[in-house]
Amino acid sequence: MDWNKEAKETVERIPMPEVMKNMTILYAEKLARKNNRKEVSMEEVVQTRDDYFELFGDTLMKRLKENRDKGVSDDAVDPQIALNEGPLLYQFDLCHMRFIGCTRQLIDVVDLAKKLKKKMEEWKVTEMIADKFDVPFMPHTNFTVSISACPNNCTAAEVKDVGIHGIAIPELTSPEKCTKCRKCMEACPDKCIMMEKSGPVIIKKHCKQCGACAIECPEEAMTIVKKGYRFMVGGHFGRWHHVGQELFKIGDEEKVFKALEASIKLLREKAVSEEHLYHMVERYGLEPIYKELC
Ligand code: SF4
Ligand code: SF4
Ligand code: SF4
Repeated sequence: MDWNKEAKETVERIPMPEVMKNMTILYAEKLARKNNRKEVSMEEVVQTRDDYFELFGDTLMKRLKENRDKGVSDDAVDPQIALNEGPLLYQFDLCHMRFIGCTRQLIDVVDLAKKLKKKMEEWKVTEMIADKFDVPFMPHTNFTVSISACPNNCTAAEVKDVGIHGIAIPELTSPEKCTKCRKCMEACPDKCIMMEKSGPVIIKKHCKQCGACAIECPEEAMTIVKKGYRFMVGGHFGRWHHVGQELFKIGDEEKVFKALEASIKLLREKAVSEEHLYHMVERYGLEPIYKELC
């Protein structure tokens, strides 16, 4: 779609990393089609800016603008590039929280990845994988650790060798403070909060533990009682597409280190040539990894 000059120049200046910039361009073009225009005008750009600023909130936008003012390019602030730099046979796949944060984040994916990378260096994971393989290495050889900061799971952690995402368990901890305003219900993407006479009740089997209900509660009646990490192993995409199995629903950082070490140990001891963790979990189940967690 065509753009008028002013609109084009303005969208270029919206302070966003490239991946988000492309989304804003598509959004503005959609608005122009809706407005029956043949080219994108300033009206659509202003609407786009306002909608995205509202979605991101003041804090995130301020952070983006500060980087811009310092002359730091938006993509240069991508910590994933530095984490995956160099000759490695593993890689980290981090959600967009890594750029400037995300309104949904429950954990810091960059901090966790840096700690896990240090461990993987100590365990000599690259050398271990390299010595097992009897074919030349390709990008799909890599062992992938995927980390998302919330259950929205933007990195599709279930289909990676190891998948981790942040979770938060909500509870109505102070029912006497509840005004039955329903904000927690409206905030729940899974619509799994019912309003009873006694106050809101979470249908636990449908709750994805994203914490949004507690974050939105204006009275602090609903609060987050526990935060942690969900851990999945043995996912894969491509030829051996497979959804990983959940090792635990919630654990602390220490448990994440142990689970990763145990998963790598299984690979080290049992994998043949280019076999992935997926093959190990298929063949031996989760038992060998569980045993190491006790
Ligand atoms: S996984 Fe959650 S925190 Fe990360 S980018 Fe997606 S919505 Fe944001
Ligand atoms: S948002 Fe808070 S105060 Fe409002 S209904 Fe839910 S728990 Fe009660
Ligand atoms: S934690 Fe998320 S999924 Fe669970 S009840 Fe609250 S908003 Fe809904």
